[in-house]
Amino acid sequence: MGKKRVYTFGNGQAEGRADMKNLLGGKGANLAEMNLIGVPVPPGFTITTEVCSEYYEIGQDKIVAILKEDVEKAIKHIETLMNSKFGDVANPLLVSVRSGARASMPGMMDTILNLGLNDEVVEGLTRKTGNARFAWDSYRRFVQMYGDVVLGLKPTNKDDIDPFEAIIEEVKHVKGVKLDNELEVADLKELVVKFKAAVKKQTGKDFPTNAYEQLWGAICAVFNSWMNERAILYRKMEGISAEWGTAVTVQAMVFGNMGETSATGVCFSRDAATGEDLFNGEYLINAQGEDVVAGIRTPQQITKIGSLRWAALAGVSEADRASKYPSMEEALPDIYKELDALQTKLENHYRDMQDMEFTVQEGKLWFLQTRNGKRTGAAMVKIAMDLLRQGILNEKEALLRVEPNKLDELLHPVFDKDALKKGKVLTRGLPASPGAACGQIVFFADDAAKWYADKKKVIMVRIETSPEDLAGMQVAEGILTARGGMTSHAAVVARGMGKCCISGAGALNIDYKNKTVEIDGIVLQEGDFISLNGTTGEVYAGKVETKAPELSGDFAELMGLADKYTKLTVRTNADTPHDAEVARRFGAVGIGLCRTEHMFFEGEKIKAMREMILAQDVEGRRKALAKILPYQQADFKGIYRAMDGFPVTVRLLDPPLHEFVPHDEKGQQEMAEAMGVSLQYIQQRVNALHEQNPMLGHRGSRLGNTYPEITAMQTRAILGAALELKKEGVAVYPEIMVPLTGILYEFKEQEKIIREEAAKLFAEMKDSIDFKVGTMIQIPRAALTADRIATSAEFFSFGTNDLTQMTFGYSRDDIASFLPVYLEKKILKVDPFQVLDQNGVGKLIRMATEGGRSIRPDLKCGICGEHGGEPSSVKFCHKVGLNYVSCSPFRVPIARLAAAQAAIEEG
Ligand code: PEP
Ligand code: MG
Repeated sequence: MGKKRVYTFGNGQAEGRADMKNLLGGKGANLAEMNLIGVPVPPGFTITTEVCSEYYEIGQDKIVAILKEDVEKAIKHIETLMNSKFGDVANPLLVSVRSGARASMPGMMDTILNLGLNDEVVEGLTRKTGNARFAWDSYRRFVQMYGDVVLGLKPTNKDDIDPFEAIIEEVKHVKGVKLDNELEVADLKELVVKFKAAVKKQTGKDFPTNAYEQLWGAICAVFNSWMNERAILYRKMEGISAEWGTAVTVQAMVFGNMGETSATGVCFSRDAATGEDLFNGEYLINAQGEDVVAGIRTPQQITKIGSLRWAALAGVSEADRASKYPSMEEALPDIYKELDALQTKLENHYRDMQDMEFTVQEGKLWFLQTRNGKRTGAAMVKIAMDLLRQGILNEKEALLRVEPNKLDELLHPVFDKDALKKGKVLTRGLPASPGAACGQIVFFADDAAKWYADKKKVIMVRIETSPEDLAGMQVAEGILTARGGMTSHAAVVARGMGKCCISGAGALNIDYKNKTVEIDGIVLQEGDFISLNGTTGEVYAGKVETKAPELSGDFAELMGLADKYTKLTVRTNADTPHDAEVARRFGAVGIGLCRTEHMFFEGEKIKAMREMILAQDVEGRRKALAKILPYQQADFKGIYRAMDGFPVTVRLLDPPLHEFVPHDEKGQQEMAEAMGVSLQYIQQRVNALHEQNPMLGHRGSRLGNTYPEITAMQTRAILGAALELKKEGVAVYPEIMVPLTGILYEFKEQEKIIREEAAKLFAEMKDSIDFKVGTMIQIPRAALTADRIATSAEFFSFGTNDLTQMTFGYSRDDIASFLPVYLEKKILKVDPFQVLDQNGVGKLIRMATEGGRSIRPDLKCGICGEHGGEPSSVKFCHKVGLNYVSCSPFRVPIARLAAAQAAIEEG
């Protein structure tokens, strides 16, 4: 026996099942399943997704020949169950032809309804139903749909007019009516004649009259629609593979437009926006499927409570509601009861919120579709926890139902939905840090600070940001940059702050001098309002109002459950007491990365730092560093206190020195005066510090080894702060992290300085504290020689931002110039700075972890690059056996959930 290509269903029996989605598509599999569990479904059959692939291999003619016998048999099966005949004049069977991929792709592919009609059959249908209007309306809809979809009359350009719509408009105009349903039988007949003439004119052929010819045309059109532009674009957005193909489902038509006891509608077993456990949906009496969504008539609510809520929002009086827009519960109470019972049955069966389509034909209810409903992040959490409490899911299942990335929606300020609809999109960039922000444009950090002090809300707009902009970023509502990728400075810092950021918006032309930004011909000035949607990357003109997120009890409960199953712990990347506190609230159990460079920037600190760099000798450097020490010590105390006994990994200074020096003359003059040297001297030093490739230059442990005083000062600040807190009774576990180790001796040299300074400090203070000295693994050589490095280093932390940069050789700040093309051409599947490259970078992580632990079995290993908050990367870290992941405060809940899922999936 050959391969099975056609699966029938109907009358409580089916050849397919719910778990055959890959073969039958979501729709086909669920139609089969509904039959099996006793939900009334019009009989039909599904042609498999494999046939779609064959179709693209061997072409239309061969596929039709292969399928012919099976399809004819399957049509007979429908005829028997429906007691009617396909193409028959006296007792016609009409069918629908629909697409259905594995994953739902709403509205992306084509559908044809009422197939099987021609000039004779329509008369037969009239006689059979006694309803000429219904028969002719069905016929004209069919010719229109078939002409558009199968015969290619639908214009490809969205600005062109559909020839059928033009004809309808013309006929309505001549008749002097406005609505389609005001047309009479004679008008509908005229439409059919004109439609067919348009087909003949455009294609040179007559409209097909043979039912089977129509059917084959429609089946092939559905296969063709798998490769239409909309579908291709949608697949790209949702990461659906083109190889999956679509199934085709052919099903007996049932009609919701056969009079006052007929209806059609859509419903949800729970509220998809809020998650509330309330059956809801919309329906229309005497209508066909598309009428509910077409907006011609106002759809009515299914339940009475829904109807009352709708009327309150729409400002409809109770008298009007009850007479003009009654709920189904009131208007068709018996059908409503049946519908309600079946929706409960379906939800219990699938153990998830269902999104369903139904039709009532002359008092008989039919289901046309059911699927797990799409929902918001808030609804996702509530539904999972409700299903758990209702005993429908167990704990592990509830955790697996929640999509970690979608939690993000719950953690940031959000736009008011209605306000967003009215907004005007100016341009798009990378959605670097989610959330919603609205404020006045400023271009410089000091302006941002001033405006903020004046109680204004600002958006920092920059070509790109550098650490100098930090103060501005801190007070800004959001950040927008013209350049930079997802791990550019702006993006990383903004995520850390939980601040909305859009980076790499290439259409921005920023003129710092005149304080203007031009976007596609529109010029905005400093002070103009814009709004950023960091979740989508959209930049809006003017003010779009935002509101704070609500973290419900369900969210907290879900997080508690996650901790019950997780093996990885989740720390945070935090540089300030405030960030540390936020992360604690989100459940971080330690700091995996405290970037100390930010502690050199604010206010007076930057002056002292510049003095240190520009100093002529060691003595000068020591003097300058002594000024910074108390500030750093105070910062560390705040952070330790916020972490309240959880470990804190502090990284020694990492970025290139030249980032800290003044590049403008005003700043240089200031330094010359402060240090009592000439402007020329300062300029000379600044030039000498210039590097061609700073990311590979004088930074990380190279800094600490050339300026050991910095390492010594930082050690003193880190441990000094810990000792002071120890006195106050606060437990502190400092871990000092050497950045950018590539060679064992680079690390050893730093370790020596750290331990010597610690010994000195402990002797002075007559007290001591336990601490660890470890390293970041950011350089491939460090990963390759991890067994050697572990002879000295007490812990590893994978800095996967730099490790990705150095493994691929892609600059993390310049990737935006070629990434879009690489993604388009599928050279890269995803941005490797967002999603850990498991094959390459991941292999280095695995090797280094194993290498390190071969020497030091209890070596603590973690990750602190941006990947530490990305679910698939977190799951990889679990598999490799890391001890923890560390991520931005606002990604902590996402990482906690992903870590729990990794443990559950492992079984
Ligand atoms: C890294 O390189 O992964 C890292 C965390 O350091 P930074 O982003 O500060 O370079
Ligand atoms: Mg780094």
